Amino acid sequence: MSQPKYLTGDKAAIQEFLDRFDVFLFDCDGVLWSGDHLFPKVPETLDMLRKAGKQLVFVTNNSTKSRADYKKKFDKMGIEAKVEEVFGSSYSAAVYIARILALPPPKNKVFVVGETGIEQELDAESVPYIGGTDPAFRRDMTPDDFAGLANGSALDPDVGIVLTGLDFHINYLKMATAHQYLQRGAKFLATNIDSSLPMSHALFPGAGSTGAGIRYAAGADPVALGKPSQAMMEAIEGKFHFDKARTCMVGDRLNTDIKFGIEGKLGGTLAVLTGVNKKEDFLREGSEVVPMAYVDVLGDLVA
Ligand code: PLP
Ligand code: CA
Repeated sequence: MSQPKYLTGDKAAIQEFLDRFDVFLFDCDGVLWSGDHLFPKVPETLDMLRKAGKQLVFVTNNSTKSRADYKKKFDKMGIEAKVEEVFGSSYSAAVYIARILALPPPKNKVFVVGETGIEQELDAESVPYIGGTDPAFRRDMTPDDFAGLANGSALDPDVGIVLTGLDFHINYLKMATAHQYLQRGAKFLATNIDSSLPMSHALFPGAGSTGAGIRYAAGADPVALGKPSQAMMEAIEGKFHFDKARTCMVGDRLNTDIKFGIEGKLGGTLAVLTGVNKKEDFLREGSEVVPMAYVDVLGDLVA
């Protein structure tokens, strides 16, 4: 496998790299910012790319936020972006359910294990759902719940899909309810299956971890709609119609972002070292996922 090219400080190599692409897919957390900390020269880098006529798409696995939430975050960070340029894993899941799965009503109702980002994107695609942030599911399980789930009387007969994302309120009632729907033939989807997520300079359990109990009980893997799933790539492509050969994925995580670009057969992948993976992860012998190029921080592209 060829060695990734280190671009930081090499003006000619940066220009040559940028000239190869018309479209840049940007991962958000770990590339543009970390939590509420904006990395240096990010707005300048994105401005430079826009002025050079590049198309930008912001692709995040964060299922807790909708595209509208992300637009607010971009505004707060002082980054120019349109809501149409944001593509999150909750939106990806909503598009997949509404337009690709397209189950006939009433069996198209979703049992949501997750936060408001999923609910807002399902609303935007007019997909009916239950669960989610409903307080009726944010409580301890009672003996009546066990009986009602076992005999089906506590279940909604219209639910045909279970969708899991990061759920800060995961509990036994939600797990058991999801499990009953899955045993009754519901389709199993996940916004994303990241094992962890970075917050306040530490790693916390991600959507793949909060959904893992449901997955283990079901003995089946969900169809994941976030990076590195190519279902997300197809959904992005369906919306933006870009030439893959002239598209570059920029990300901090090898097993989501860079893998997403490589498996999607994009023209290039660019790793930044401000997030989860360090250069040792892809420079060491036998590394399975190797980006085409890397920079220390995104702002090195304009520095
Ligand atoms: N999932 C959640 C809930 C997050 O908060 C984050 C980062 O903020 C991620 C996933 C990873 O997001 P990204 O794909 O933008 O790195
Ligand atoms: Ca990231």
